[in-house]
Amino acid sequence: MRKLLRFLNPLAYLGVKQYTILFPFAASVLICVLSEFYAHVIAGNPEVIGSYIILIHITSIIYFAFRNGIPGGLTATVVALAYYFYIIKTQDYTGQRLTSSIVTTIELGIIYFVISLAIGHLKQKIDRMIFREAEEKRRLQVIIDQLPVGVIVTDHQGKILHQNKQIKTLLTRTEQNEGVSLQGPLNKSLETGASMSKREFVVHRSDGKKSYLQISATPIRNSEGHIIAAASIISDITAQKDLESKKDDFVNMASHELKTPITSMRLYIESLLSTKTPHTSRQGHKTLKRVHYQIEKLQEIVSDLLDVSRIQTGKLLLHKERFLLNDLVRETVKELQSSTIKHVLRYESHASITLTADKFRIYQVLTNLITNAVKYSPDGGKILIRLNRKNGQSLLSVEDHGIGIDQTQHKKIFERLYQVTDRTEKTFPGLGMGLYISKEIIKRHKGDIWVESQKGKGSTFYVSMPIGS
Ligand code: ADP
Repeated sequence: MRKLLRFLNPLAYLGVKQYTILFPFAASVLICVLSEFYAHVIAGNPEVIGSYIILIHITSIIYFAFRNGIPGGLTATVVALAYYFYIIKTQDYTGQRLTSSIVTTIELGIIYFVISLAIGHLKQKIDRMIFREAEEKRRLQVIIDQLPVGVIVTDHQGKILHQNKQIKTLLTRTEQNEGVSLQGPLNKSLETGASMSKREFVVHRSDGKKSYLQISATPIRNSEGHIIAAASIISDITAQKDLESKKDDFVNMASHELKTPITSMRLYIESLLSTKTPHTSRQGHKTLKRVHYQIEKLQEIVSDLLDVSRIQTGKLLLHKERFLLNDLVRETVKELQSSTIKHVLRYESHASITLTADKFRIYQVLTNLITNAVKYSPDGGKILIRLNRKNGQSLLSVEDHGIGIDQTQHKKIFERLYQVTDRTEKTFPGLGMGLYISKEIIKRHKGDIWVESQKGKGSTFYVSMPIGS
């Protein structure tokens, strides 16, 4: 029964581009035969079905045109017209009656023909649209199946429209992890209308190992700005994480290994420098001083590398004490002034600030900011170091008039191993660790570090820290 209903339902054929004429032909002939049977056998008067048959034919033409397109509608039209001519012939009309019957049949034929074409065309157009959409969907599915990442696309209510094969693999990993739902970020971005980029989730696998997933989700809006869908990309970054951790381990090991021989070298050179034998020529002494300077630089790099790996492994410990920040800043400025003659370092403060913090680490941040100000002001000039109190916080700033930093780089320079690379910057040595370490140190003191700068006009770095910390 259901099969029969489906066979007769014209809506079931939407999107199906098969325009057969067999059923329209057979059904139209049957309609004519039944009409004939009713007129002659049941009613006994052929005149009785006149206008009813027209109504039945119009309905059937609309039906067949909608079910089987233009061919279906035209078949029903041709059968109907053939039937009308059959009636004219069998009724033996003559004269005026014959002429008017033929004219009416031709007029009806034109109307039937137009209806068949109009509805059949509409139906075929809808079919093409549905077919195209289905093809588009299939194409999209093939493309997203090829992607190495998992993709989910939902409608605005969170119902899944597309998802690729990779999602199934990822799902098996997350099903035992209640906290991790692959669709969670998608639902959130549907709710808030905001994109979520590259959030990382740790998944505990049944084999005891950990997997790392990176999920991004974004809402999709129509031209009026209403959210109509959302898409999410999920990548398994476990291999990348493993590699990063191996790299960190290597850097950690290498810098530990380098630390001891460099310290010994420094001590040797220092002892050679302090023992002035008559054999040490002036040139020799100068060379030893240069070597000493380079060893100091090397030691700084190794110490930065160690700090980076401490940060990565969560082992950067703070040894807090109470001290007067003004003293620390004044002494550091004085110390660093001796390393440059091209620059004038000026310290200004209108507040006396006592902090409970890791003095050495704060010194490290300050040194980094001032040496950067010196390094990135190659033409020399004034460097202003201010210390003040603002909104219950200490506010330290280091202002230079050097090369400046483009607005697009203001956040990135605080990332690990990030250096601005443009034509002017290539000439400055460095590894991009200083600001990253400084940011982590300040973060651990519950403070903040940021920069205000314009390319070519100099930079001001700010550090704020809660005075109670
Ligand atoms: P490094 O100086 O070793 O490259 P940092 O982490 O200290 O590493 O700085 C990161 C980047 O930020 C630098 O490569 C530089 O491009 C930029 N930068 C830092 N301080 C300044 C400054 N005062 N003026 C201009 N650019 C700066």
